[in-house]
Formats: sequence, structure tokens, C-alpha cells
Amino acid sequence: MTGFSLTIGGRAAPTTKTFNVLNPVDESVVAACPEGTVALVDEAVASARKAFKSWAALPDAERVAKLMAIADLIEKHHPELSQLITREQGKTQSGPGANLEVGGAVAWTRATASLSLPEQTIQDDAQGKIVMRRKPVGVVASITPWNWPMMIAVWHIMPALRVGCTVVIKPSPFTPLSTLRMVELMNQVLPPGVINAVTGGADVGTHLVNHPDVNKVVFTGSIATGKKVMEGAAHTLKRVTLELGGNDAGIILPGTNIDPLLEKLFWGCFINAGQTCAALKRLYVHESQYEEVVQKFAAYVAKIPVGNGLDPQNLIGPVANKMQYDKVSGLVEDARNSGAKIVVGGNPDKKPGYFYPLTVIAEATDGMRVVKEEQFGPVIPIVKYKTVEEALTRANSLDVGLGGSVWGNDPQEAARYASQLECGTAWVNQHGNLHPMAPFGGVKCSGIGVEFNVDGLKEYTTVQVVNVAL
Ligand code: NAD
Repeated sequence: MTGFSLTIGGRAAPTTKTFNVLNPVDESVVAACPEGTVALVDEAVASARKAFKSWAALPDAERVAKLMAIADLIEKHHPELSQLITREQGKTQSGPGANLEVGGAVAWTRATASLSLPEQTIQDDAQGKIVMRRKPVGVVASITPWNWPMMIAVWHIMPALRVGCTVVIKPSPFTPLSTLRMVELMNQVLPPGVINAVTGGADVGTHLVNHPDVNKVVFTGSIATGKKVMEGAAHTLKRVTLELGGNDAGIILPGTNIDPLLEKLFWGCFINAGQTCAALKRLYVHESQYEEVVQKFAAYVAKIPVGNGLDPQNLIGPVANKMQYDKVSGLVEDARNSGAKIVVGGNPDKKPGYFYPLTVIAEATDGMRVVKEEQFGPVIPIVKYKTVEEALTRANSLDVGLGGSVWGNDPQEAARYASQLECGTAWVNQHGNLHPMAPFGGVKCSGIGVEFNVDGLKEYTTVQVVNVAL
């Protein structure tokens, strides 16, 4: 494995300290990662500021060409990046894991390159001409989490670059390596300073958010940190896009033929070992078929191979870090002690690494922590309901609203119910499926703003109206 470096102003930036990035499979060291500092944040912001004017002034077609070249470069390095993601994050090579993440990064880069925000003429007559255009907001700070590190970095960086912003990215200290490598590759294509990467934790993140020369923060992570980001950004009225936690509900309508839906239901709940913002995190099942669904789903889940993601036989890897493993274990124990029934899983082996078994919890109730709180792990509580209206009310009862889903034999009927969910994306007979042209974001405490397509692009711009009297 080659060394990793921060990139500032198009060059590897020297650091005095490193920290170890651990492989969640066995806690071995994947790499010693260079550690950023607040002084390096200042340098990175200065280099992004310096690069901004000429990057913003480039003709659109040139920025599009650069984004397309970046997509080609990521694609060329697909195996290297995908293996790196498996090693630092744990997700598997097989199934919807690390290869989906790198493939998605390429697809989203190309899709973002294809977008544009043309000028709009509002008035053009003998009295005058009014034109509205969108200008890049300036220097963007991107702060990313550890669950889909490279994909989320791409979701932040590419729209910013597309419209003419420059970026300083700070990845999660749990999974910085794929981002550092991607930024290094991007610098083969981009002018110096257009994309910079600095590592570090809360101190470095706070400094970046508060920096007076940053114009916008795009943040993906927990609600608690998102609130701090918004507070920090308020001092200089920075623009923010916040993609925060969720606790997505899925509702299975009464009488649903469950067998053909089991596979999609499984991935909806357990993709990336459940460590996905828009994974299905509480499943509501009608009392008339509760036992049937619990038994069939548990039997399906029990057959899924869990292990080292580099082994192509495995479909689910470990939990990504000790902090999350402890949180997940604590929530399952709390449910057990509160009277829930662990139908499958729930008893991790005392082996090295952060493997938590795929766990299905029956007899779960809304008052249990595993239902109320985002578990963000390979655990699904199944809750009983009596009427669909009641299930919708309970699904909507939390202060989060990222995604939600309704499952049923009649997709039209299910879609009518799904539209009553208070969330940014409502799925039918699937959960978590994203499309680069479908705007994605949360309502309530799940976030502010959207990503993807032109609505996502607009978040990196400010509006200027030029109003000419004739
Ligand atoms: P986190 O909030 O702990 O950390 C996210 C990032 O913020 C990391 O890079 C971290 O170092 C940094 N950070 C921590 N404190 C900071 C501070 N005070 N100021 C600035 N930056 C700071 O979140 P996490 O544990 O990495 O990610 C898991 C959470 O992210 C879950 O709640 C999940 O639902 C959410 N998430 C949401 C989406 C979405 O699109 N809505 C996507 C992925 C993850």
C-alpha cells in the first residue's frame, strides 16, 4: 500500500503527526494517515480561495471536460479504490458494497457533469432587459462521514466543482484514505487548489466550518454534529447543506405477498451492514401477518454470509468501527431487556474485529430505544400495527424524515400511502434506491437542502439578477 497524503494547493502537504486507520475486520492497521491541523486548514482554505477566481471564470465546457476526465480516472483506479474502501470501512466486494460505491462515484460524477444552470431572461423588451444567472458561491467546506466515504465525497465535491466553486474536504478520521487517494487523483486533472483535502476530527472540522473565508458548508453526518455545523456557519452566514441522520420506517400493507419482496426488504435494511443514512430502520407489519413476516424474514437474513469483505463469498462485512459496534450492541441489549424477542442474531462472537451478527428483533415497540433511535447497524426491529393510518402516524411520529417506504401488492395503493410519509424520499416496494437525477435530502431534523440534479447544483450558487434599463 502506498503512502497517503493531504493535498493542499495541488501538492502533498507535509504533516508532523499520523493516526492509524484500522481495518474493522481485525483491527489491524490499514495505514498511518497524515493528521491535519487547524494551520493546515488555513493553508487549504487559502489555496482554495486563490484558485477560485480562475476556476469560476473557466467556460462551462472546460469544467465539464475536467469532471469527465475525473470520472475516467476514478474508473481506471476502480479496483484499487474499491479494495481500499473495503479495508478502511469494511463493506464487501460482493453485493452492493465497495464496487457499488466506486461505480456510483463514477456515475454521479458523469451525471453531475451533464447538468447545467443556464441564464434565464426574465424581461427583454423596449423598456429593459432582466437576466438571472447563478454564480458559484465560492469556497466550499465539505465534511463527510465514515459510512459511504467516497460516494458522499463525490456527492459534495462534483456539484461544487461543476458550478465553479473550489473545495476543502475533511473526511471522517475513521475512513480518510479513499478520499485522500481520490483527491490525489483529481489533482492530476485539476488546477492546483481547486480541490484540497485535510484530515482530522472535531477540532479541524470546527475550524473549517468557522473559517471566515469559507462561503458554504456541505455536511453529511449525525444530527448532533449538524446542529453544531449550522451554529458555526451562522457567524458569517455561510450557506449550508446538511444531510443528517434518519430513522426510516417501512410499512408492509396488510395481506402483502411477502416472498417476492424479501430480497429487496433485506437490502433495504442491511445494505452496508445497516450503516446507511437512508436504510430501513423500523419495520411496521400488520398484526394479521406479523408472525409470517417475522419468520420468513428472519429465515432469509440467517442465510446471508457475513465476514471479511475481501472474501467474495461474503455479502455483509463488519460494523465499521468500535464506537458504532458498541452503540449497536447497547441498543440490542436494551431491546432484549425491555422484552423484545431476538429472533436471529444478537449474540456476537468474541472474535477480533467489529462483526455484529445480522439481527432481527420481534415484539419491538415504539418506546424501545432501538425503534426511537437510529441504530445505524445490522439490526432491524419489527413492530406490530393494527391499521395503516395508525402505522403512518407512528412512522411520522419522530423528529426525523430522511426516507420511508410502503410495501404492498398494489404499487399504486402503496404509493398513495407512501406520499403521506413525512420524509424526503418515499419508496414503494423498495427502500434506499437512489438516482443521480432524483433530488435527495431530508425533512425535519434529517437535514436542510437537497443533493443531486439541478436542485442540488443550485445549492452551490447564489442568484444574481442583472437589470438593465433601456
Ligand atoms: P458525525 O457527525 O460523528 O461525523 C461526521 C463528520 O463530522 C466527520 O468527518 C467528523 O469528523 C466531523 N465532525 C465531528 N464533529 C465536528 C464538529 N464539531 N464540527 C465539524 N465537523 C465535525 O457522523 P458519523 O458518525 O461520521 O456518520 C454517521 C451519521 O451520518 C448517521 O447519523 C447517519 O445517518 C448520517 N448520515 C447521513 C447521510 C445523509 O445523506 N443524510 C448520509 C450518511 C450518513
